[in-house]
Amino acid sequence: MAIGLWKALLLLAVFARQRAHNYVIGVARLKKALFLFMRRAPEGEFLLKSPIIIVWTDRAWIVALATIGTVIAFLLVLTYVSVKVNAPLSEAVCGKTIIIDPGHGGDDAGACGRSGLLEKEVVLDIGLRLADLFNRAAVYTVLTRSTDNDLVESEGYSNANRKRLDLESRVKLASHHNADLYISIHANSFPEQVWSGAQTFYYSKSDEAKALAVAIQKELVSRLGPNLRKAKACDDYFVLRNSTVPAVLVEVGFLSNPREEALLAQGDYRRQVAEAVFYGTVNYLVDSYKKGRQKEADESRPTSDLPRESMDIQNDASLYSRAKAALNLDVDEVALYFAGPTNFDDDLMPEVRKIPGIEAESNWDLRASRIVQELIKGPSRGSVLCPTLPRGTYLRSLKIIDNIAYVDFSKELMENHWGGSRAEELTVYSIVNTLTDVAGIKAVQILIEGLVSSTIAGHIFLDEPLSPNFDIIEFRQF
Ligand SMILES: [Zn+2]
Repeated sequence: MAIGLWKALLLLAVFARQRAHNYVIGVARLKKALFLFMRRAPEGEFLLKSPIIIVWTDRAWIVALATIGTVIAFLLVLTYVSVKVNAPLSEAVCGKTIIIDPGHGGDDAGACGRSGLLEKEVVLDIGLRLADLFNRAAVYTVLTRSTDNDLVESEGYSNANRKRLDLESRVKLASHHNADLYISIHANSFPEQVWSGAQTFYYSKSDEAKALAVAIQKELVSRLGPNLRKAKACDDYFVLRNSTVPAVLVEVGFLSNPREEALLAQGDYRRQVAEAVFYGTVNYLVDSYKKGRQKEADESRPTSDLPRESMDIQNDASLYSRAKAALNLDVDEVALYFAGPTNFDDDLMPEVRKIPGIEAESNWDLRASRIVQELIKGPSRGSVLCPTLPRGTYLRSLKIIDNIAYVDFSKELMENHWGGSRAEELTVYSIVNTLTDVAGIKAVQILIEGLVSSTIAGHIFLDEPLSPNFDIIEFRQF
C-alpha cells in the first residue's frame, strides 16, 4: 500500500507540472518530507533520480491533500470491510489456547516403521509445525514437549509408572494453562502392512471433542486422501478420558505401511498434515463460535445428549447379543475376536473355533485359560482376520474371582507389540470381549508380569477390570 501511495504522489506531481504556469516555493519542506533522492536540475526543476520530474505549483498542494484524503478514506473503507469479513474468524480463533501433545518421547519411541522411522520423531516435527501455524493465527499454544523427552524428570520409575506420570503431566497442562482444546498427535502401526490412512479419535462423552475430531478428519481426508477412515470415539485412551477440555488424538498415518512411512519421512508431507489439523481446528472454532451465537438466540435448544448416549449403549448390547446368537455356536465352539481383514475394517470380528472338551471342563479358570491360549495362537490358518496378540506372548496365569477374570500375560505382550493406539485398543478388547463371552466372567483385569496398571503400547492404562466393548465388534461372515 505504501508503494501505491508513492506512485499516486508521483503521478500527481507530473500532472501538476503539466498544468503549472509558475513555480513556487515550499521546496525545502517538500525535499525534507518526501524526496531524499532529489537533486537540482539545471532548468530549476527538481528531479528524482528516476526520469519523473517533480514540480510544485500553487494549486498542487490542494490536489495533493485531496488525493491523500481519498487514499486514507479508501484504506479506512478497506480495513472496515476486511474486519467485517474476518470478524467471526478473529473472534473465534485469535487468543485461544491450545495444548499440542506430540506423543511419546525419550525412551518411549512409540511405533517404529520398517525403515526405522520413529513415531516420537514424526509427531514432534508435526507438533512443532502445527504450533507455528497456530501462533501465526494469534493462537497461544503449549507444546507438551518440544524436544525428544518425556515429561518425567526423575529416574527410578518402572516403565508403566513412568508412562503414567508422563501422561498425567501432559493432561494437567490443559487445566494449568486454562486451555480451550487439547490435540494429541500420534502415528499408527499394525501387523498388516496394508493398513493406512490418518484418523482422528475423540472421547465419546464430549460433543465438542467429537465436532473437533470430525472437522480435523474432514481436512485430513480432503488434503491427504484417499482415505475412508472417519472420526471415531475411543474412551480408552488415557489423554482423551482424562482431559478436562475437549480433546482429540490424531493418528497421522500408519508407520507400518511402507508408502505412508515414506510420506511421513518427508518434511513437505508433515507440513500438509500439520496444515490439515490446523485448518480442521480453525473450521471447528468458527463453527462452534457461530453455534454459540445461535444458541444465545435460541434458548429452547436441548442442552444434554445423555439419554441418546445411554440408548446407543443399549442398542449396541442388544445388537451384539442378537448377532452373537446368529453365530449359532455348537458344543465346544467359542467365538475368538481378532482384528478385521482389510484396511478400513479396524474393528474386531469373531472367528468361531472348536476347542475339543472345553464344555466338559469343570474348572472355570482352566476353561478360560484354554480360550486365551487359542486367542494367543492367532487366527486359524487360511483366515482373513489379523492377530491381536504379539508373537512370543504367553499366559502366566488366569483366575476368576467374583465374575472378574484376572489374566496375567508375559512381558512380550508389551515388548513385542507393534504400537499404535487403535491397535492397542484392538489388543485389549480382543482379550476382554473373548473372555466376557465365557459364562461367569463379566469383566477382565489384564495384568502384565503380575502388575496391575500396566500399559501395552502407552495409550491405554489397564487400571481396572474392563467390561466388554460392544461398539468395537463387527459381526460379518467370511
Ligand atoms: Zn502413539
